[in-house]
Amino acid sequence: MNKPKIHHTGVVLMPDVPLHVYAIEGSHFSVLIDTGITPMKNEILSMCDKAGGIRYVLITHAHADHIGCNRAVRDHTGATFLAGGALPWIEDYETHIREFCLQEETGDYTPGQAAEVRSIMDEPVRVDITLREGDLIRPGGETVLETIAVPGHKLEELAFLEHSTGILFMGDLFLALKAPFFHGFQTASGFHNSLHKIENLLESGRAKSVYAAHFNPLDAGQAMAVINETRSFLDQVRDHTLDAVNGNDLTTIWKTVCSKMHKDLEFRGYAMISVQLAELENAGLIRNEGGLWQHG
Ligand SMILES: [Zn+2]
Repeated sequence: MNKPKIHHTGVVLMPDVPLHVYAIEGSHFSVLIDTGITPMKNEILSMCDKAGGIRYVLITHAHADHIGCNRAVRDHTGATFLAGGALPWIEDYETHIREFCLQEETGDYTPGQAAEVRSIMDEPVRVDITLREGDLIRPGGETVLETIAVPGHKLEELAFLEHSTGILFMGDLFLALKAPFFHGFQTASGFHNSLHKIENLLESGRAKSVYAAHFNPLDAGQAMAVINETRSFLDQVRDHTLDAVNGNDLTTIWKTVCSKMHKDLEFRGYAMISVQLAELENAGLIRNEGGLWQHG
């Protein structure tokens, strides 16, 4: 077998937001990319059985819907786990929930959401190996997965380019823009760089299609359209944040941007606006005086 066999399972997380999980079967061994959420456990494990010989689990990023069946997969396959970073969020779910859901900051606006996030993850596993840009995984034959660092949605996010098929497997750099809450980012400038990197892979023909977690498979043209939609989303967040500054504090700016962009008041958006403000401050466009943000 020269080219890999691609196995797939998926669910619908919310209207217009699917969650897809893939396994890549090479001639020597197989690889699983992300482990989905606990309601997918039976489908994920049976996909592992179909692919057979799952040696590695590659984690795109440390969010609940990408690591939810880690324990079940480890126990079922004995696979080695590889990730790009944010290891405490994969290895300790109490830390994950405390830092991710920002309960103190977002207070009454996010009741029950921490429990909801916790409920889609089983139990943590240890990450065996940290992956870096350019690291290759070679499941046999012509099948080669190249690690591509794509900071943006998460700082440590990874995508994987399979060389023989040109399929780029991706987590959430292609954001679930249709979600009722802000899917969010940890760096806006890094996000633009990562989108540019993916655009170059598509334009050079090295990537021929994109299999992103929250989209059905995209050909190069469709992937370019998603890149442009994502760029325009990033621009809207920046512009609405700048507009909302006017001597306001973070909480007020967060609420204003959520309302302008018709998104739920929710911890992901709060963290994103806080990142956006810091970047605008670094760019010299705004400044903070005693917790209040001003222009110039
Ligand atoms: Zn995510």
